Amino acid sequence: MPELSIIIIEKSKGTGGRMCTSRSSFGNSVDLGAQFITKSSKLTNIQNRLYNSLLDEGIFQPMPNNIEGIKSASSAVSNFICPRGSGSLVKYFLAKAGCDVLYEHRVIKISALKEKWETLCENGTSHEFDAVVLTIPVPQVLQLDGLHSYLESDQLEKLKAVEYCSRYAVGFFL
Ligand SMILES: Cc1cc2nc3c(=O)[nH]c(=O)nc-3n(C[C@H](O)[C@H](O)[C@H](O)COP(=O)(O)OP(=O)(O)OC[C@H]3O[C@@H](n4cnc5c(N)ncnc54)[C@H](O)[C@@H]3O)c2cc1C
Repeated sequence: MPELSIIIIEKSKGTGGRMCTSRSSFGNSVDLGAQFITKSSKLTNIQNRLYNSLLDEGIFQPMPNNIEGIKSASSAVSNFICPRGSGSLVKYFLAKAGCDVLYEHRVIKISALKEKWETLCENGTSHEFDAVVLTIPVPQVLQLDGLHSYLESDQLEKLKAVEYCSRYAVGFFL
């Protein structure tokens, strides 16, 4: 949609979030978040084409079958790893979308102006948008100042009821 201008506001110094890849000074890398992607049988043609492009462009590579005790959903068709780190998947889509990213901008408040939405960041900057899409984890959504007043009470209750299952990854560079 070339007529749309999309700006990403990101609190960290880089992209990736929980799909981040950490790199050592020796050139090795380790995925500290998502490690593999599972392709499901319930995909649209567009999604299937995306998987093919990711394989063709070397972003994806089939995952070797060397993980003991792996549990797969019944809809799982195959698993893929990112040879350049899972962060490369995020970078691939960002480059395709051509979005501007504002790093080190933590959104702390969202307010409705007359015809726009305004975001206020911890560093004091504010930006106006026609629409704001939140893609941050629910606990962080609930910390945003001012957002509660734009949510129906049942929406707020549903958000408060979201539970997370903790996952940890430790990487060692030897
Ligand atoms: C250890 C671990 C292993 C995992 N393994 C797998 C796996 O093998 N396969 C799999 O499919 N999934 C796995 N996952 C889950 C997967 O990583 C996540 O589901 C996915 O990355 C979530 O993406 P997201 O864009 O929704 O959220 P996130 O990746 O959390 O992105 C949210 C982004 O918003 C930013 N942000 C947050 N608050 C603010 C704010 N107030 N202002 C500005 N920016 C903000 C964050 O910095 C972050 O970049 C794993 C997760 C972990 C932690």
